[in-house]
Amino acid sequence: MAERPLPMTQAANYIQPDLSDARLAAPRRYQMLIGGKSVDAQSGKVIERESPGHAGKIVGVWPEASAEDVKLAIGAAREAFDNGPWPRMSGAERSTIMYKIAQNIVAHADELALAECLEVGKPISQAKGEILYCADLWTYAAGQARALEGQSHNNIGDDRLGLVLREPVGVVGIITPWNFPFIIASERVPWSIGAGCTVVLKPSELTSGTSIMMAEIAREAGLPDGVFNVVTGYGDPAGQTLAEDPRTDMVAFTGSVRVGTKLAEIAARQVKRVGLELGGKGPQIVFADADLDAAADGIAYGVYHNAGQCCISGSRLLVHDDIRDDLLARVLDISRRVPFGDPLNQRTKIGAMISRAHLDKVDGYVKAGRADGAEVLIGGGAEAEHGLFFQPTVFQGVRPDMSIAREEIFGPVLSTIGFKTAEEAVALANDSEYGLSASVWSRNLENAMQTIRRVKAGRCWINSVIDGTAELPIGGYKKSGLGRELGRYGFDEYSQFKGVHVTFGKPPAWFAG
Ligand code: NAD
Repeated sequence: MAERPLPMTQAANYIQPDLSDARLAAPRRYQMLIGGKSVDAQSGKVIERESPGHAGKIVGVWPEASAEDVKLAIGAAREAFDNGPWPRMSGAERSTIMYKIAQNIVAHADELALAECLEVGKPISQAKGEILYCADLWTYAAGQARALEGQSHNNIGDDRLGLVLREPVGVVGIITPWNFPFIIASERVPWSIGAGCTVVLKPSELTSGTSIMMAEIAREAGLPDGVFNVVTGYGDPAGQTLAEDPRTDMVAFTGSVRVGTKLAEIAARQVKRVGLELGGKGPQIVFADADLDAAADGIAYGVYHNAGQCCISGSRLLVHDDIRDDLLARVLDISRRVPFGDPLNQRTKIGAMISRAHLDKVDGYVKAGRADGAEVLIGGGAEAEHGLFFQPTVFQGVRPDMSIAREEIFGPVLSTIGFKTAEEAVALANDSEYGLSASVWSRNLENAMQTIRRVKAGRCWINSVIDGTAELPIGGYKKSGLGRELGRYGFDEYSQFKGVHVTFGKPPAWFAG
């Protein structure tokens, strides 16, 4: 690394990456999956991914798709939808193949976890857990795929019957970010193909490998050609073509507000359906009666998980003034001891930042917080010689108008604000343009529930954080997005509902003359 503008501090809990690890010896090479075939970009261009946790080590190489490559994939998905077997299969047949995909994900879990760890820089143990969680997402969606139904209305008159037919939306372009490539694709692809759609997935150019592996696993499991295509490349042109091409019926986007807004504008011009899962600035509200050990552990997990590069990160700590010092002491103790650094080390809990530019951005927020008058209680610096790491960092004395309280830092940086009453806590929690997630910590369930009811966020927890299960919907209020994924709700995103009026007997004449 040529320059090191960030402070180098060698915190005691830093695990320096082992650059001689045999798992870094050679990059994995990938091809895109279009119409069931593994292909390179027509230009032959590739993108090389350096492990963010292991300086100088290339760990993945995938094609750089042009707009033409993406159009071929859209054509394959269109053909598979319009003329292929998938949308016409029974739910039971679709379910059988999807269940096989879930089983094959488990069979390939170690291989997938290693690729996800190296591309994203997340701890290997975390990556393995995520892959197994994804197998469960596929299993749930496989079960629901044969339970999808419409409705009947038998109450609209003796000579009439109303039917609501559920139909797949069509060809779906799915665009995913770099922080949880396998999870986010597993929250979208099974729900869309389970509804009978066909898909073109465009993962982030930084972390594309495991999405290709997912599509290969699906092919092995017997998914018909063209149902699940993967193109790799940059947002513009690869992602944007999915929104612009009139042959896609829907775009499901997960990523930044900036790009999500742009895609929604493109989709609006064609009146194309769009799903958006965007950023967040999740509050963690801790009342004075909370179990402070559990809350401190949850707060550390909530902000440090995936090095804070998590849309549902609990990055704003809103704590009752009476327990603030006590709680912060416990959070600081964890922050001092939690191992961060080498993603390949089994002990590591906090891995790498995704890129040098992003590390600098997080550093810039910390500098801005200091300049605004907030106090760094621990951390605040980078360890960026052997990989891109940022120390677990806690701010106190944060005012709600500071950028570290308002903007998505996307790093292991906690901003602490005190409150005195539940009303004040709710007002602070809702004082955000985002509304993706929120936590409440309290032993009083009524207080916790009444608080959660008033918080504007799509994914909430009481006495936990970043919990997830296939059954419950996820999605955003306000600028955090449109639409819901997971659960039974997720299938509705990828379904059209057709009302059919059936008339029995001879209908009354309109023109009797
Ligand atoms: P990003 O918006 O930069 O990129 C996301 C995806 O969009 C990538 O695949 C990228 O290549 C693509 N893209 C970029 N420009 C495009 C364009 N013009 N047209 C089409 N596609 C384009 O986001 P990121 O930096 O990869 O991820 C971080 C952001 O994602 C954060 O804001 C985070 O909160 C958000 N996120 C949200 C969720 C959620 O579920 N709500 C989950 C994870 C991440």
